[in-house]
Amino acid sequence: MTKILIVDDHQLFREGVKRILDFEDSFEVVGEGDDGSEVAELYRRFEPDVVLMDINMPGMNGVEATEKVKNEFPDAKIIILSIHDDVHMYRMR
Ligand SMILES: [Mg+2]
Repeated sequence: MTKILIVDDHQLFREGVKRILDFEDSFEVVGEGDDGSEVAELYRRFEPDVVLMDINMPGMNGVEATEKVKNEFPDAKIIILSIHDDVHMYRMR
């Protein structure tokens, strides 16, 4: 079972992704968040195998949140989701 943490500020998006993943027996959504600032705490609590991370969120964005989680958990697997086609909009440091 692959444990997934979904972080996106839009509840409808989170619900849609959860519904799609529900069709797969091998995925389990273990937690959800709506702001980057809470991702590290959620990661500690749920110990997901994969994080699906939005970029644009109020407060801390997905790139900053990814850096924060990676600092604490270097092996964390994080997939960043975006509708933006400008690769330079957020640049990883
Ligand atoms: Mg967003």
